[in-house]
Amino acid sequence: MNPVLRVALPVPLLTLFDYLPPEGRIAEAGSRVRVPFGKGEMVGIVIDPAAEPAVGARRLKRALEVLDPSPLLDAELLATLSWAADYWAGAPGEAFANALPLALREPRPLPATGREVWSLTPHGRESHEAGTRRGSSAALLDALQHGPRAADELGLALPEWRPAARRLLEAGLVEKNEWDEPLRPADPSPGPRLSDEQAAAVAAVAEGLDHFQPYLLDGVTGSGKTEVYLALIERALAQGRQTLLLVPEIGLAPQTVRRLRERLGVTIEVLHSNLAEGERARAWLRARNGTAKVVLGTRSAVFTPLPRAGLIIVDEEHDASYKQQDGFRYHARDLALVRARAHGVPVVLGSATPSLETLGNVEAGRYRQLLLRARPGATRATQVRIVDMRAQRLDHGLSPTLLSAVAECVGRGEQALVFRNRRGYAPVLLCHDCGWHADCPRCDRPMTLHAGRRRLICHHCDNVLGIPAACPSCGSASLSPQGQGTERLEEALAERFPGVEVVRIDRETTRRRDAFGEIMERLRESRPAILVGTQMLAKGHDLPNLTLVAIVGVDEGLHSVDFRASERLAQLVVQVAGRAGRADKPGSVLLQTHHPDHPMLHALLRGGYAAVASSLLAERRLLDLPPYGHQVLLRAEAHGRGEVDAFLAEAHAAIGEPGDLRVAGPMPAPMPLRAGRHRGQILVEAHSRPVLHAFLRPWQHALTTLPSARKVRWSLDVDPIDL
Ligand code: ADP
Ligand code: ZN
Ligand code: ZN
Repeated sequence: MNPVLRVALPVPLLTLFDYLPPEGRIAEAGSRVRVPFGKGEMVGIVIDPAAEPAVGARRLKRALEVLDPSPLLDAELLATLSWAADYWAGAPGEAFANALPLALREPRPLPATGREVWSLTPHGRESHEAGTRRGSSAALLDALQHGPRAADELGLALPEWRPAARRLLEAGLVEKNEWDEPLRPADPSPGPRLSDEQAAAVAAVAEGLDHFQPYLLDGVTGSGKTEVYLALIERALAQGRQTLLLVPEIGLAPQTVRRLRERLGVTIEVLHSNLAEGERARAWLRARNGTAKVVLGTRSAVFTPLPRAGLIIVDEEHDASYKQQDGFRYHARDLALVRARAHGVPVVLGSATPSLETLGNVEAGRYRQLLLRARPGATRATQVRIVDMRAQRLDHGLSPTLLSAVAECVGRGEQALVFRNRRGYAPVLLCHDCGWHADCPRCDRPMTLHAGRRRLICHHCDNVLGIPAACPSCGSASLSPQGQGTERLEEALAERFPGVEVVRIDRETTRRRDAFGEIMERLRESRPAILVGTQMLAKGHDLPNLTLVAIVGVDEGLHSVDFRASERLAQLVVQVAGRAGRADKPGSVLLQTHHPDHPMLHALLRGGYAAVASSLLAERRLLDLPPYGHQVLLRAEAHGRGEVDAFLAEAHAAIGEPGDLRVAGPMPAPMPLRAGRHRGQILVEAHSRPVLHAFLRPWQHALTTLPSARKVRWSLDVDPIDL
């Protein structure tokens, strides 16, 4: 038989699909093809243009059209994606679909790669009509004052700019053009003189720009990691090479982009969630043709083509948002390493609180550690103190020590942050007479009282219920909120500190797209304020007047069954503490707890994150947990408990003789019921990764053929980060 096209299609199946080549067209590996599938059509990627057809294959259908004359995905991406699909036990077609922007998965020729650029018309520059505009129009005119701006950048700084742009276009004040050449915003502005530590870090990486080597850039917040990135990107640019810079979901503040653009003097391609699909596709294509020199993006940007790769950076490498939690469950940090190796370039992982996986790699000598100990901006180191809550009279969960520290702070005209990792008013609504409390019927977990919205909301499934007037169980009217959420803390603090602005920052108050940025911008002004916030505040944003951080509610994290809970809590505490005292004012941190003698808190105080991490690593080694042991988690859920149990029993039987594997389960998931679905799981562990992976593929294939598999929703998670 003649060779056939082997194609990856975006379906959740483990197989590739064979087609006869279309008449008269040669396809290459990495090109898109349009093929018949079922009753319809699909766009797939050619993996092998000349595959041996499987024995017994008959009546193959013919592909309809080759969409790309030359491959869209280069050899490196093809190989990396195949590797990734195999490693994370994903469907190959879904892995490929993840890599391509949505607009490129359509059966259309490639869009032009020019950038949509907006600028003021002469009329817009001169007429005083421009000065009469208000609101988003005024903001847009203002943004264009200093020269043309690309649409993707405008979208980042002004999320609601499009309607304004249309109005101004009609009025002849602005114009829209396509530019093929990268914008040259300005001459690069010089950065600060690097400290010795920073210079040493830059020298270490820059010395080996043409071979693969992972580095951990380990430095507290404000120690100048970003300056090191900038210096390294300059080196890559000087060689005409591309840099990929990955940041966590929330870190894409317009101020970061502005800082990069001004310092580097080149256009920054930004791949963020506010980007229209067309713009994303163009940016992706500009990276593919090499005009995009600096690509900044969140998790999925790790799939950007880099034909002229010079450097890959993963900022806040410990951040959980790098792991995709549904569909194709890859880890962007780990994939960044694979790509750096394939390109033969250095990869820099930056963090103040490195993951234990990364520290394990440092320990094993695979990664080189670069330390930044000093904080160039800060005069004195931040002080951390533990507040023992046990003997104190609490006011809404706040101790007198904490309240007087807040009073002193705002008295000095500075800002204080009260950090509580729980939204809403109160985590529980309780009946004082019979002990009934409001549970989500779909999750079996307490519902959170949201006073402002006068609702009970389930934080696990977003179920919303009204607040009962009386106890549904005994009829008593004495229902009362228990515990403190951010909303209740805001109320208590506003009452306690009249005349001081109290600002709550959580998912509720930042629902509107640009709300978070606006609040941050306002808080950068130096006047007293009390911030109440959740982990949204843990990352990145520089508030020069914030000098006190008070952390409440850490106790919940001290007694979790999840083996990663201590690592996460230590990271959170250090990250939140890092908000205090940047610029020229010293900061202090208060940790309020009922367990002042907890070993983790002690280690944190005495030796900082490094001490906690090394004791946690020792513990993990002893128990053969990641990063020393390796895990695969099979999850299953269904409306009926019986279906889940039946599937997991068959899945367990399919494991056979465990050999070097350790098998835990079938067992209920940590949340056995969620959104009305019963959930269970099996955890398979092995000390050796090859042993685990050798077991994985056949098991996965066996699972797909189980009759009980059709009655549940199931998935495999390789290196799961929450069990
Ligand atoms: P990180 O990324 O580690 O949080 P940054 O690179 O953002 O730290 O630096 C924190 C602050 O210190 C910034 O305002 C930065 O401009 C400043 N800074 C960094 N390095 C230096 C230096 N060598 N000299 C003076 N200021 C510096
Ligand atoms: Zn009751
Ligand atoms: Zn629920």
